[in-house]
Amino acid sequence: MSESLPESAMLTERAERLDAADELAKVRDRFELDDAVYLDGNSLGALPSAVAPRLQDVIAREWGSLRIRSWDESGWWTAPERVGDRIAPLIGAAPGQVVAGDSTSVNVFKAVVAAVRMAGAGRDEVLVDAATFPTDGYIAESAARMTGCRIRAVAASDMAAEAGPRTAVALVNHVDYRTGRLHDLPGVTAAAHAAGALVVWDLCHSAGALPVGLDEHGVDLAIGCTYKYLNGGPGAPAYLYVRRELQPRFDSPLPGWNSHRDPFAMEAAYRPAQGSARGRVGTPEILSLLALDAALDVWDGVGIEAVRAKSLALTDLFLECVAAYVPAGLVESTTPAAHEHRGSQVALRCAGAEEVMRALIARGVVGDFRPPDILRFGFTPLYTRYADVLRAARTLGSVLEGNT
Ligand SMILES: *Cc1c(COP(=O)(O)O)cnc(C)c1O
Repeated sequence: MSESLPESAMLTERAERLDAADELAKVRDRFELDDAVYLDGNSLGALPSAVAPRLQDVIAREWGSLRIRSWDESGWWTAPERVGDRIAPLIGAAPGQVVAGDSTSVNVFKAVVAAVRMAGAGRDEVLVDAATFPTDGYIAESAARMTGCRIRAVAASDMAAEAGPRTAVALVNHVDYRTGRLHDLPGVTAAAHAAGALVVWDLCHSAGALPVGLDEHGVDLAIGCTYKYLNGGPGAPAYLYVRRELQPRFDSPLPGWNSHRDPFAMEAAYRPAQGSARGRVGTPEILSLLALDAALDVWDGVGIEAVRAKSLALTDLFLECVAAYVPAGLVESTTPAAHEHRGSQVALRCAGAEEVMRALIARGVVGDFRPPDILRFGFTPLYTRYADVLRAARTLGSVLEGNT
């Protein structure tokens, strides 16, 4: 057993000290949580307490009583832009550039096709992150085929060097969903621009966990989901960011009537809306959109820099506790040790990972398993305590000792 008593006492004391000094500790009270240690908020964020009463009102009053009047009187029609503007500060975007709606997969399609259309003649190559979350790769391949481009898979770390004169667009995951590696958004964006290409960032595993800085770094397009670190709920609408200067040239491959300049004129000819509404498609998913709207209340008074600082402290502590409590050689972290390369999760390679995760969940420590052999632990600074980190690593140690 690798756990020595003095070391264990030191880690316990350190976790207590960090929890006592945690300026985000009270944000946890804005969520519905139980005794389990929930480290799967990078897959489905916990439920914010504001959501159920808000949805109850939306259903009973806005839908039940006001009915059709709510499209106007309850602000349903403009909710995609309004909710987009609430997400915007979390990803470093000024207002008017983010619209909420559709799934991430659908927004990948809009973004990649629109980027190819903006890239101009002679650019017929779509670069895709070789380790991408599968849906991005599948959709990008189809988008490339439809636009007469060829697709080339490139490691995200090589993306800057690989963008060339034929590249129309590079589609990159900001944080790798499997390893938790954080990619170089400023560097890749600058390199793509230097090559004359556009870049689409997938923020699914970074938005709500760390500063993104879309405007600051001149990102062209970005997409992301809201049910992970943004706690919007299962199937919550995704979002699309189009940099303001590009909006007039954004030619949507899905020009539904909601993105028309005058939707209720019911014109035969399509004329695109100005601003972020151009990224809309059809009738918005109002119930889940307003659940997301309520879920975003948890961010009131919370700065993303403080979230990032706590995220790194949580993952640092977890890596140290794993080293202390898990017998040597049984797990290997694939998450970068360097802060500048680390997202907000820790991925541990482990023999029999699927069964190990099942045993952890049975003991009240909830992470997830990704094939072939990855234990994934997501750290959500708004509601994860340092004491949870300690308990997770200790439980992992005792599960693995039982296995040896
Ligand atoms: C979670 C995730 C998605 C999910 O796409 P959906 O359309 O919401 O199913 C896409 N891309 C990445 C990188 C993800 O992490």
